[in-house]
This record gives sequence, structure tokens and C-alpha cells, in this order.
Amino acid sequence: MDESKPNFSRRHFLAGTSAVAAGALVPGGSRRQTEAAAPGDKQALIAITLDLEMSMHYPTWDMMEWNYEKGNLTSAVKQYTVEAGRRVKAKGGILQCFLLGRVLEQENVDWLKELVREGHAVGNHTYDHVSVWATSPEQLQYRFQRAPWLIRGKTVPEVIRENILLTEAAMETRIGVKPLGFRTPGGSTEGLKGRPDIQKLLLDLGFTWASSMAPGVPVTPANPTDADFQAVADAQASSQPFVYPTGLIEIPMSPLGDVASFRREKEKWKLGDFLKMVEHNVRWAIDHGGVFDLLTHPSIMVVEDPEFRAYELICDLVGASSGRARIVGLDEIAKRHQVK
Ligand SMILES: [Zn+2]
Repeated sequence: MDESKPNFSRRHFLAGTSAVAAGALVPGGSRRQTEAAAPGDKQALIAITLDLEMSMHYPTWDMMEWNYEKGNLTSAVKQYTVEAGRRVKAKGGILQCFLLGRVLEQENVDWLKELVREGHAVGNHTYDHVSVWATSPEQLQYRFQRAPWLIRGKTVPEVIRENILLTEAAMETRIGVKPLGFRTPGGSTEGLKGRPDIQKLLLDLGFTWASSMAPGVPVTPANPTDADFQAVADAQASSQPFVYPTGLIEIPMSPLGDVASFRREKEKWKLGDFLKMVEHNVRWAIDHGGVFDLLTHPSIMVVEDPEFRAYELICDLVGASSGRARIVGLDEIAKRHQVK
């Protein structure tokens, strides 16, 4: 997702997360995680999601140009994504990625083909990282503020629709697969509530689910306390998947994602804080048979967590759960909510 503006207020900030894309396919290695679920127990579904885009303020705080070329991934970001996929698969899970179509303008996309071949899910994140909530051309994306001629003569809904369809065409052309699911660029605490037009657009384009809701939780920006971790874990209950009146399924990004945890010039969380929060949330999901949908961006994580400790931790917690949890793509989570 990658919110454009950090949500900050005094000592606390509202943390948002953004989340997942589709994907199913559990590689053979995940058998260990699935076989022991006790009858009647609802298995926790854990998603490790990576939005494949560049993020402002990374790798250095003064870096803002990414807002105009979100899809121009660096080698470091691509390598981090591939290595994350290898590590998670080795422990029986998959990644749920969301891709900007513009990434596919890059010369080499072998790394993406490897992700798909290895069974990781890749969903649609629009072509240019446009806001589906936009009501004026200026709100769509920075790129179109600087270069408005690119969308000249088109209405805002037309640009949004085209931006989603172009991504599908780019994926089919260059990596030979259709997108698995949709995650909105940015996120909203209300998701797509009150926007049946967007819900219907996504349904019309063939999506059964979207990940657009990014709940906020007030926490201490630096040096979070046990009470903060508990508050975030408690908030998981109100960020579980649900179905909109139109039938579109919402899979919220679980609080807190990497943006909400790390992207501040001062008083940011340390990696240890993030890991502690992730552990609390995974344990909450296991205890309640719920969903935890972790939002991350490799462009942020390569700086904040270069040794992949968050992903390894999730795999280890799920591996030690005696089958009470499973790492899945968002498509698998959506299936629990589909009308039979
Ligand atoms: Zn994004």
C-alpha cells in the first residue's frame, strides 16, 4: 500500500497497514503446517504480503522522487523479494505479493517469473499506484500531477479502470499469469465502505476480493510498551475479513504494517519492537482461529530488516503451532468468506 502521509498526532500516531493480494497454492513443504489441525478447530490463516513498489523516504529520508516512479524497483529491492520468497518457501509458506504494472517495463523480469514458478501469489496493485478513492485527477497519483497529459481526456473512473486493466495486460504479456486479487494503493480506515461504485468496478473486472482497509491503532511512536502491543493485538478482532453488500470480500491489512511502524524521521520503532508486535499478532490469530495479514514493502524492509527476521519469525511461529496456523495467499483467506 504505502501511504503517502504518515499518520501522526502528538505522542501517538494512527498506524495503518495495507495489505494483501491473491494467491493460493500451498507448496508441498507446507504439509507440516496443515496436517495436525484438530477437528473443529478453526485454523489461523497468516498472510505475508509484500507490495512491490518503491517507497518515499527510503533508503534515505530525503528520497521523494519515488512518488513519481513507484514501479522503478532497484536491484536491492528485487533481490530482497526473491530471497524472502526462498526463505518463506523453505519453511513451508508462500508470499502474497502485489505488483505495480509499471514494474514490468523494466528490462529483466526473471525474478518475478521465479516467484510465480515457486508458487508465490502476485496480485494487482494498479499500474501507477493510483488512488481508487480519487475524485479529481490531482488525487490520482503524483505522476499525473507532473505529467497530466498522460491522462488527458479521461475521467477519473476511466483512469482507475485502465490502470487496473493495464497491469493485468502487462502481467499476462511478460510473466504469463493473471493477477491474483487486488490491493488498493494506499489504504483507508473505512476501506470501500460507502463506495459501491469501486466495489462494483472490481467485481466487474473479475476480482472476488480486495484488500483496501487499513485500520488505525493509536500507539507510542518510539519505545512502545506492553500495553501498546496488547492494543494492537486486541485490534486484530476488528480487522478481520468481511463481505460488502455488493458481495466483494474485504481482507483488511492488519495493524500494524511496516509503514506505520517504521516510516518516521524521528521516534520510529526499532526492529525488535516490530518483531514483538508481529509475534503478539500471530499468537492472537492462532488463539482465535483468525486472520493476520501483514503488510510489508521490500523497499522498506530491506533497510529495516535486512536479515528477514520478521518473515522467519512468522514461519517459525506457524511451524510450531501444531497445525493451528497456515501461511497462505489472500485468495485462500477469501475462500472462507465466499458464498457457497
Ligand atoms: Zn502500494
